[in-house]
Amino acid sequence: MSPRHPALLILLFTGLAIAALPTGLARAEDESPTPPDPHAAARERLVADSIEAGPFGRTPVKDPAVLAAMRSVKRHLFVPPGLRSEAYRDRPLPIGHGQTISQPYIVAYMTEALQVGPDATVLEIGTGSGYQAAVLAAIVKKVYSIEIIPPLAEEGAANLKAAGVANVETRTGDGYHGWKEHAPYDGIVVTAAAAHIPPPLIEQLKPGGRMVIPVGPPLQTQSLMLVEKREDGSVSQRNVMPVRFVPLTRGK
Ligand code: SAH
Repeated sequence: MSPRHPALLILLFTGLAIAALPTGLARAEDESPTPPDPHAAARERLVADSIEAGPFGRTPVKDPAVLAAMRSVKRHLFVPPGLRSEAYRDRPLPIGHGQTISQPYIVAYMTEALQVGPDATVLEIGTGSGYQAAVLAAIVKKVYSIEIIPPLAEEGAANLKAAGVANVETRTGDGYHGWKEHAPYDGIVVTAAAAHIPPPLIEQLKPGGRMVIPVGPPLQTQSLMLVEKREDGSVSQRNVMPVRFVPLTRGK
């Protein structure tokens, strides 16, 4: 029998419409209100206790835009599925390939140090999980992020997409050279420890712009350097905090 016969077609469509009805109703119910986030309470505790309060002699993070971003970005979407229960502890976590997602307090501190607003364009070196990029993306207009390990670059981009972050552009490459095409940047954040501050990154910083970058030997305590390019183009730098980051590796 062929469903081309008009009467059969009508029957078929009626059947489809009836079959579709309960699903449609169920979907409308599911969509409002939005399902509760099972991690919301843990995320709030993390931000309030470990970032905003500034415990253990740490400088508290005060910028309202940074705190709002830390409250809204779901870190559990950027850690390996088996580590989700650990996502809202204030510590780095392994993300594979010998790399780590940074500690939330450090992400918040570095983001605040950039002093960037809604019109800013920011460059990140070391996409990793994509978490730092997502936090920046909640505050600024556009984030460009470079990752040297190809499978991590893919994972970071996939995590950002799954989290619904649309204003981050990623690419695979050696971030030492920056991303000239979109320069100059209002802010540059380097999330791996460099032996020295890469001159191309200083070049790609806008006058009035800021860069945060860990500088020092691999696998030891490094200095988080805050680099400022003044309006006249002169550059100042100061050590703001001891940190421990994975090393900035170099492309061949
Ligand atoms: N911002 C990341 C932190 C990842 S750890 C996050 O929020 O998860 C630092 C990352 O820097 C690693 O993924 C590492 O592979 C990457 N990296 C190291 N050297 C690099 C380089 N020269 N260019 C770009 N990325 C680099």
